[in-house]
Amino acid sequence: MTGSLDGLRKVLALERERRFSDSAVVGGLDAFLLNFAREAGISTSHPVSRVMQSLPPGGYRALHPIQRERVVNELLRVAGNGAPHLTVVEITADEEEPEAPRKAVTTTQAAQRKTPPPKAVGNLDSPVSVFPLAKARGNLPKLERAGIRTVRDLLFHFPKRYHDYSEVRPIAGLTYGDEQTVIAHVQSVKQVALGRRRAAEAIIGDETGTIRVLWFGQPWVAQRLRSGMKVALSGKIGAFRNRMQMENPEIESLDDESIFTRRFVPVYRSTEGLAQVTIRNLVKAAIDSFADRVLETLPEAVLDFNDLMEAPVAIRKIHSPDSLEEADAARRRLAFEELLWIELGVVRRRREWQDSGGAPVLDLSPEALEGYVESLPFALTASQRRAIDEVLADMGDSTPMTRLLEGDVGSGKTVVAAAALLATVASGKQGAIMAPTEILAEQHLRTFTSILNPGDAAPAEDGPWFQESGEGFIVMRPPYMSEPVRVALLTGSLKASAKAAVQEAIARGEVDIAVGTHALLQESVSFKALGVAVIDEQHRFGVEQRSALREKGGSPHVLVMTATPIPRTLALTVYGDLDITVLREMPPGRPPVKTFFVPPRRREEAFRFARTKVDERRQAYIICPLVEESEAIEAKAAVQEYERLKHEEFPDLRLGLLHGRMSSGEKEATMRAFRDHELDILVSTSVVEVGVDVPNATVILIEGADRFGLSQLHQFRGRVRRSEEQGYCFLLSETQSEDAMERLMIMETMESGFDLAEEDLRIRGPGEYFGTRQSGLPDLKVASLTDVEMIEETRREATRILDEDPELEAPEHITLRANVNRIWDRVTPDVS
Ligand code: ADP
Ligand code: MG
Repeated sequence: MTGSLDGLRKVLALERERRFSDSAVVGGLDAFLLNFAREAGISTSHPVSRVMQSLPPGGYRALHPIQRERVVNELLRVAGNGAPHLTVVEITADEEEPEAPRKAVTTTQAAQRKTPPPKAVGNLDSPVSVFPLAKARGNLPKLERAGIRTVRDLLFHFPKRYHDYSEVRPIAGLTYGDEQTVIAHVQSVKQVALGRRRAAEAIIGDETGTIRVLWFGQPWVAQRLRSGMKVALSGKIGAFRNRMQMENPEIESLDDESIFTRRFVPVYRSTEGLAQVTIRNLVKAAIDSFADRVLETLPEAVLDFNDLMEAPVAIRKIHSPDSLEEADAARRRLAFEELLWIELGVVRRRREWQDSGGAPVLDLSPEALEGYVESLPFALTASQRRAIDEVLADMGDSTPMTRLLEGDVGSGKTVVAAAALLATVASGKQGAIMAPTEILAEQHLRTFTSILNPGDAAPAEDGPWFQESGEGFIVMRPPYMSEPVRVALLTGSLKASAKAAVQEAIARGEVDIAVGTHALLQESVSFKALGVAVIDEQHRFGVEQRSALREKGGSPHVLVMTATPIPRTLALTVYGDLDITVLREMPPGRPPVKTFFVPPRRREEAFRFARTKVDERRQAYIICPLVEESEAIEAKAAVQEYERLKHEEFPDLRLGLLHGRMSSGEKEATMRAFRDHELDILVSTSVVEVGVDVPNATVILIEGADRFGLSQLHQFRGRVRRSEEQGYCFLLSETQSEDAMERLMIMETMESGFDLAEEDLRIRGPGEYFGTRQSGLPDLKVASLTDVEMIEETRREATRILDEDPELEAPEHITLRANVNRIWDRVTPDVS
C-alpha cells in the first residue's frame, strides 16, 4: 500500500485525526514518505516530492503541530484529494527525452550572427557606458537602479538562476511539474478573468500540438504578445481539469542570441524596464573585454588545497556555465572567498585581542566566592554555577577573556556578571557594566545593591540613585569581601557636575564598579585600572562598541551578555571572535507564561482578565503596536491608546505611559512609579522590551502582536515571568494572514526562547532576524550565512593562513588583506 496515492491519502487522513502527533504510521511520517516516494517511483519534481523537499532538515518530526497541519494539508492537496484517477504513474509517464528542435535553430541563428564587437577600452572601474548598449534606450538609469554602475558591477552581478535550453521541448513532450522551455508560435492571446483574478491567456502551438498558457495576475502580458509571434517560454507545467497548462512562464526574446547558442542561460535580478537580453548582452560584453583582468585574490595554495577555480574562470563560468555542476563550482569558489574574508577578519580580531595579552589576572578566593553564593536569597542553578566557573577561569589568566553569556530572559545572567565584578574588585581592579538603557543601568545598580548588601534587599525609599542623593557613588559592605565595594552610576542624564564628579572618581580609582550606559564609552571616561567590562543585552551593541570599551584602559576582560540566542552559523561568523557560554536552565519555581492568541472577537475577555488581576493587586503591561516608520508616529499612537484606555477602558485604575519620545527623566519616573506599584497598568511602546524587572506584574497584553518578531514577543513575555506567580500573555491581533496567525499560535505552545529564535530565523532569515546593520553583518553577494559546512571550512583555512602569516603581509596575501580590510571597514555597526 505504501506506493499508492490512495495509501498516502489514508495515512494523511489518519495523521490529521490524530492531531498531527506523527503517530499515523509506525516509524513516523518521514520514513513513510521516503518509502512512498521510492516505491511509487515519483520524480524529484513531483508535487509530493516538492513538499518533502520543503521540509526542514529534521523533517516532519521536527515541526510544530501547527506547521505539521499545513504540511499534511498541502500533501493531501497535491496527492489529489478527491481525484483518485490522477495516478502517480500518469504524471511522470514521460521518461524519454524527445528530440529537441534546438539544433536546427542553432544553425540558422549561427549563420545570422554578426562579427563580435571590438573590445571595449577601459578597466574594471570604468563606467558601464563604455559599452554602447548601456547608453541606448535610457538603460543607464535602469542599470543604476539595479546597482550596476561600473564594469566590475556587471561582472559581479551574478545570475539568480539559469534556464536550461538543452531542454527545449516540443509541446507534445512537456511533462507535468518542473520548469520547462518551449519555442512556439502564439496562436491567440487575450485578457481573461478567472474568478476575481485577472490574467493573460494565450494558446501557443508548434508542429506537435498546442498548449494553454496563463499568466495569473499579469493581464498586461497580453499586450506584449501578438498572434503569429514566435516566443520562447520557460515555466512550470500545471494542470486544469486534467489538461496541462503552462503557468506564469517567463517570456524570452528571440532577439537574445544566447538562448540559441548556449545551453544554460543566466537569469538576472533586474529592474523595471530592463530586459534580460540587455543584461545578458552587457554581461557578455563585460566578460569578453574584462574578465581576464579580474585579479586572483586567493593564493595558489588555497585554490589547490580547496579545489577552487581561479577567479577569472569562476566569473566566466558563473555567467555562462556548460553544466549546472560547473555553475555550482563557480559559485562555490566565489562564496568561499567571501566567507574567507569574513573568517580572516574574525579570527584575526580574536587573535589580536588575545595576543595583546597583559590582561590583569583576577581572582576571587574560594571563601569569598562561597560567601557570595551563600548570601544570595536563592540557590544558583547548575548552569549559573558552571557559567561562573568558566568566567572566573578565563579571568584568572592573562589572556583577555572574550566570552558571550547567552541565556533566556530571566535565566539569571546578572548574578554571573556580579561574580565577575567581585573577582575584579577582590583583585584591586575596576569593573564596568554597560546596559543599553538608563532604566536597565539603574536596575543593575539596584540588583547589585540587593545582592551585595544581603539583608538589606530593598533599597531605601527613593532608591540609592546618585543624582537624587547628590552623592557620586554608594558604598556596599559584603561580609565576605575584605574591603568595601564602591559602586557608581554613570548615565547621560546625570547633571554635568555630577557626571564630572563620577568621571573623576573613576579616573582616580575610587570607583570599584561603574554601572552605566553608552556614557561609559565617552572619551572623557578613563579608568585607572579596568579589569573587566560587562556588556549587557549585547545585540544592542555592535562590534565597535565592544572594542571601544576594551580600549578603556589596557586590555580588560570582556563579558558580553545576551538574551538573543545565537545560531551556530552566526556564532562562527558575526560572533566568531567570542567564546560562548549558554545558561540552559531557568531558575526553578517559575511557571511558564500562559500565552493566548486573541482574535478581535475575544479582545474584551483579555481586557476583563487584566482587570481581575489588577483587582488582585497585580500589575499589567499593555504594549502598543510596533510602528516602523518613525518613533514620533509610534509615540503619537501610544499617547492616543493611553488616552483611550485611561478614559474608556480603565477610568478607575492608575495608568502610566512609556514611549521613546519621552525624555529619559520622564521614562525613569514612570518606570519607577510602576516598579513601586504607584501604577496598576503600564501602557508602553516596545521601549519596555529589554530586561526590566517588576516581579508583581503578571499580565501582559500585546496589541498588534503580529507586527513583532517571535523573539521580541518572547522578550515581552519574559516581563511577566519574574516570580512564582503565574504570568499571562495575550497576543492581540486583527491579522487575517494565515502565516501571521500561525506564528502567534506557535507562541502559545513553544516556551523556549531558543526554539523560538531558531523558528524566527528560519522564517525571516538572518538579515531580518538580526538586522544586517545591528548584527555587524557584511552584505554577501554569493555566500549564504546558513551554510555551516562552508563556514567551518573557511574558518579552518583562515586559521591556517593566519598561523603562517598573522599580518597577511606575504606578497601572495596582499590582495586578500585588502579585501578583508575593505569588507570589515565597510561594516559600521549600529547602536540603537
Ligand atoms: P536575565 O538573565 O534576564 O538578566 P536576571 O539576572 O535579571 O535575568 O534574573 C531574573 C530574576 O531571577 C532576578 O530577580 C534574579 O534575582 C532571579 N534569579 C536569578 N537566579 C536565580 C536562581 N538561581 N533562583 C531563583 N531566582 C533567581
Ligand atoms: Mg538582564
